[in-house]
Amino acid sequence: MDHRLNDSLQELPPLMWSRPDQPAIERPGLAAPEGKLRLSANESPYSPIPAVLERMQLACTRVNRYPDITGSALRASLADRLGVGAEQIVIGSGSSELIHALVAAFGADGAEIIVPYPSFPMYTASASLTDAQVVRVPVAADGAVDLQAMADGITDATRLIFICNPNNPTGGFHSADALSEFLAQIPPRVCVALDEAYWELTDAFVNGAPDSMGLVRQYPNVIVLRTFSKFYGLAGVRMGYAVTCCASVAERLGAARMGAMPNVIALEAASACLDHFDAYMERAREAARERSRVTTAARALGYDIYPTQTNFYCFPFAPGPQPFLEAGLLVRGGDSIQFPGHVRVSFGTPEDNDRVLAVLRAHAPLQAQPAL
Ligand SMILES: *Cc1c(COP(=O)(O)O)cnc(C)c1O
Repeated sequence: MDHRLNDSLQELPPLMWSRPDQPAIERPGLAAPEGKLRLSANESPYSPIPAVLERMQLACTRVNRYPDITGSALRASLADRLGVGAEQIVIGSGSSELIHALVAAFGADGAEIIVPYPSFPMYTASASLTDAQVVRVPVAADGAVDLQAMADGITDATRLIFICNPNNPTGGFHSADALSEFLAQIPPRVCVALDEAYWELTDAFVNGAPDSMGLVRQYPNVIVLRTFSKFYGLAGVRMGYAVTCCASVAERLGAARMGAMPNVIALEAASACLDHFDAYMERAREAARERSRVTTAARALGYDIYPTQTNFYCFPFAPGPQPFLEAGLLVRGGDSIQFPGHVRVSFGTPEDNDRVLAVLRAHAPLQAQPAL
């Protein structure tokens, strides 16, 4: 039957294409093996707050009905929170689905799509199902997207640029001001997708710095992608959204979803999170403090941790994920994060993070040096 499949399906990375012969550590989409703690998928370690769980339970009683496919109630709440019009927002089953829709919308006839590298593998995976050419631009030394190099990579064929900000797997981040300078150089015919899956976990967000909604207002070629998977911890129910400049772009992007529908429980869960925003904000502040504690401790052990504004951290680690696995911890490394020689570890609860630090202590680069 293989000969009937689109060839590029065979080349998709393991995230999309879970093969039983792949070691469990490379299959982030599957449940962690018995007794292992999963710090490999940048998930929240916490369940939804009780008030959100209650609303989800109520939604369960309505699953005999089809959902509101445009998610109008959720879009109205989002519009309110973001200071944009509801007609500018498109929802999707996680922002992954919207990435796929964007690539499907732009990736025809040999169009070039510029992506950072290493970065989120979904951009390349989605593009591999289209006629588009992917142009990879290495990230800057600090692990943030190299904005100037991305701008320099534009040709007549470029139709879409993904800016992963903060970047996964490195964690580096650019402010709205830096992005504005970059966007000023981009021809209006090139769509710029700002993938902000981790925005609400950045210090900038926690401290109330300007977000990218001003950029959407100023530059009609910008589309911002966000998700309920990370900050709101709803990875398992699947809800993400795109903010576009106007209703006509939103309608086109919505059409590129090809009739995919959100589910009733996900719509209700996301709305409930927005209604209880303050509780999640408190979690974000706590996560930022914990990030600082753990990265400070790891750096003190001699690890070269990339500056991170996310719920994960990344560093060179020659032994790879194996020593973590032996300690019962799943982390990502090497090709699965497009970054050979490095590992990416999600932050968990303070206890989870201490288990990681224990592994790091056992392999610490500074250990070999004589005590002072
Ligand atoms: C997690 C993640 C997403 C989206 O995840 P969904 O669960 O599909 O919303 C998008 N981009 C990046 C960079 C991510 O890390």
